[in-house]
Amino acid sequence: MSDYKYVFGPVPSRRMGMSIGISPIPEKYCNYSCIYCQLGRTNHLTNKREEYFNINDIIEEFEKYLNEDIKFDVVTIVGEGEPTLYLKLGELIKELKKKTTKPVAVITNGALLYDENVRDGLKNADIVLPSLDAANEENFKKINRPYGKIKYSEVVEGLRKFSKNYKGELWIETMIIKDINDKEKDFIEFKSILNTMEYDRLYINTPVRPPAEDYVKEPSKEVIEKAVKILGGISINSLLSEGFYSRVKDDYEAIKTIIKRHPMNQYEITSFLESRECDNIENIFNILEKDSDISVIEYKTYKTYRLK
Ligand code: SF4
Repeated sequence: MSDYKYVFGPVPSRRMGMSIGISPIPEKYCNYSCIYCQLGRTNHLTNKREEYFNINDIIEEFEKYLNEDIKFDVVTIVGEGEPTLYLKLGELIKELKKKTTKPVAVITNGALLYDENVRDGLKNADIVLPSLDAANEENFKKINRPYGKIKYSEVVEGLRKFSKNYKGELWIETMIIKDINDKEKDFIEFKSILNTMEYDRLYINTPVRPPAEDYVKEPSKEVIEKAVKILGGISINSLLSEGFYSRVKDDYEAIKTIIKRHPMNQYEITSFLESRECDNIENIFNILEKDSDISVIEYKTYKTYRLK
């Protein structure tokens, strides 16, 4: 497995190109437990901000990674949970920016934007990608299953305030789920909220990877088109994905390193192995199927592989 603890990738991002990930929080620490989460249900539902890992250790590891001279387009603080729970996020962004000229992005659920300290820390990032899935409190609870008393109105107000003062690129992302928030009235209600914010892009996402809950389904193509029309966004599904990359030499271990953070489907694994000129692809799939560390999930007529 990789000898890196906080740095991973580069992973192909449909929005940003090849992205080096920085994960400053332990696995599945989040203040939401979204029904569509590709990591499964949240194990540690918390809203407590902490310096989960020493900031110097993260920066040291990033420097080591940079010395390997791997090509990338962006550094993304993403975590296998919610990165704004990292208490020193603002300092981390500043330190990363001292080490690279590439943009530093943060992917967040945006829940903590009601906290002025979080808004202040995030202002140093070049791109912030907050999500907002619901147009009302009821759907917020249904979709995001937030920690304790986090209120929808506070989350929206936090995002609104941030959007008015932030000088970088603000790309909001929304997840459309069949029969939950995919009706025309949902889009109209959501648009009226977006109209009170200032942002650069809106990405419309659907649950393309196996979700935490079986009842989560993708809406039809027509529904996504309607969402794009009403909300004025870009459908993530329409963006091409680039190939995966790993610096780990062994093909099997390389896959395990990637799926620890980013589940891969059978087609992605095949094209990844082909790009490495692997000549025993079938055998690798056989081992993956039997590996007790790996969940094999049948979703949307194909298999997806995720580390347990
Ligand atoms: S906010 Fe992100 S990490 Fe947290 S539960 Fe939702 S999808 Fe998963």
